[in-house]
Amino acid sequence: MQLKRTKILATLGPATDKPGVLEGLFDAGIDVVRLNFSHGSAQDHINRAERVRELSKKTGRRVGILADLQGPKIRIERFKDSKIWLEEGQDFALDINLGKTDGDNTQVGISYEPLAREVRPGTRLLLDDGRVVLDVVKVENNTRVFTKVVVGGDLSNNKGINLLGGGLSAAALTEKDKEDIKTIAIISADYVAISFPRTGADMEEARALLEAEGCYAGLVAKVERAEAMDVIDEIILASDAIMVARGDLGVEIGDANLPAAQKLLIKRSRELNRVVITATQMMESMIENPIPTRAEVFDVANAIVDGTDAIMLSAETASGKHPIKAVEAMVRICLETEKQPSVVTSQHRMADSFSRVDEGIAMSAMYLANHTKISGIASLTETGSTTLWMSRISSGIPIFAFSSHEKTLGRVTLYRGVFPIPFTHEKMANADVNHYIIDKLKTRGVVNVGDSFIITKGDATGHIGGTNSLKVITVGEDPIR
Ligand code: PGA
Ligand code: MN
Repeated sequence: MQLKRTKILATLGPATDKPGVLEGLFDAGIDVVRLNFSHGSAQDHINRAERVRELSKKTGRRVGILADLQGPKIRIERFKDSKIWLEEGQDFALDINLGKTDGDNTQVGISYEPLAREVRPGTRLLLDDGRVVLDVVKVENNTRVFTKVVVGGDLSNNKGINLLGGGLSAAALTEKDKEDIKTIAIISADYVAISFPRTGADMEEARALLEAEGCYAGLVAKVERAEAMDVIDEIILASDAIMVARGDLGVEIGDANLPAAQKLLIKRSRELNRVVITATQMMESMIENPIPTRAEVFDVANAIVDGTDAIMLSAETASGKHPIKAVEAMVRICLETEKQPSVVTSQHRMADSFSRVDEGIAMSAMYLANHTKISGIASLTETGSTTLWMSRISSGIPIFAFSSHEKTLGRVTLYRGVFPIPFTHEKMANADVNHYIIDKLKTRGVVNVGDSFIITKGDATGHIGGTNSLKVITVGEDPIR
C-alpha cells in the first residue's frame, strides 16, 4: 500500500463547519488543520478544535492542529458604502485621523499610526495582495499620505496593505495575538504560527509568551516579510517549522522572486533540521471550480519535488465551494509525484559528522532503508527527534513514530513521510515490544509476511535522546527478538 508522504494542511472555516465536510476532509486525507485567528471568534476555534479531536479519536487518524495568529497585518479601515472603485491615475489618500467608517473614493482611514512616518514620496503600496497599487506622492503632518493610483480596481473594507520591498516596522505580536494565545493554550494546539516575524528574537518572544500560558506547541515562522529573508537562518533556527507564506511574501518581494525564495526556504529548512510548509493559492481556482488548473497541479507537484513537508489549503477549504475535492486533488498529485525517482533519492549527508548517537542511528536507518529492501521504519520516540532527522532524508520508505506522548504524536503530523501511532510499552519485554509493533502495523495494513522492517529504539524507555539501537526484522520469522 502506498502511503501519501507529503502532509496536507487544511484551513478550517465556514465551509468546513457544514455537516459532513470535516468528516469528508478526514476521509480524503488531511493531516493537519489550520485555525486561522484572522477570522472568527475564540469560541469558533474552540469548537472546531473539539470536533477535530473527536474525529481523530473516532477514526484513529491523529490530525494535528495548527493555530495561526493574525499578527500585525496592516489594514485600511472601512468605506461608507463598504466598497469603492479606484481609477488608474486618480488621487487617493490614507489618513490616520479619518473616521473608521468614513472612507470614500478619495480617501480612507488607517489604524497603523506610524505609516505616514515610514513612507516617503515614491514608496509603492500594495493593497489587497497587490490587486491595487498606489504610489506615495506626498506626506502631510505625519498623518496623511497622498497617493496616485497606479493599478486601479475594486477596493473593499479592511483590505491589507504591504509595502513593496518591505520595511513597515510593526512588531510581530499584537494585543489581539496575546489574547488569542490564551485561547490557543486552552485548545492545546500542536503548532502555533507567528505572522510577519522579522527576526529570531520575534520567535523567541512568541515562545516565551506561549510558555507563560502553559502552551508548548511547535512554533511556525511565517516567512512573509522581505526583511525576514535577510536573516532567514536565524528565523529558521528559532522555529520548529517555517511557512513559505507566498501571499504576503509575494507582495513584498515581487511575485517573480517567489519561486527562487520557495526553493531556498525549503532547502535551508531541511538542512537545518526544520519542517517546512508551502502555502497560499495552491489550488486557488478550486474555490470556485471542482478541478484544479494544470498550473495548480504543477505547483503542488513542484513543491513536493522541492522537498516541502506540507502543502496548505487556505480559502479552498475554509470558504470554497469544493473543500473535499481540493484535498482529493492534492492527494492524487502527492501519490503520483512521490513515485518519481528524483523525489526519493538522497545524498544521505555523506560529508557530515553527527554529534549525537541518536542522530547517527537515524541517519544509518535511512541509509539502510534506502539501499536495501526495507518496507518501513518503526521508531520508538519520546520527543519525535529521531523521526524528524529521518524525515530530512529523501526516501520512499514510511517512518512510523510510535510514541506514548500526545505532544509528540501531534508534532510529527507535519513531518513528511512520518506517521504517528499511539503506543505504550511500559514493562514490556524487548521481544514483546517487537511483536507488538509488528501487530500494530499489521492491523493498519502496512506490513505483510516476508516484509523486512527497521526498528529503532533505546534501551531505557522513557529516556529522551536514548535511541541507541537499530534492528532489522522480517515479519513472520520467529522468534523475533
Ligand atoms: P495568511 O498567510 O493566509 O495568514 O495571509 C499566508 C500568506 O501570506 O501566504
Ligand atoms: Mn500572510
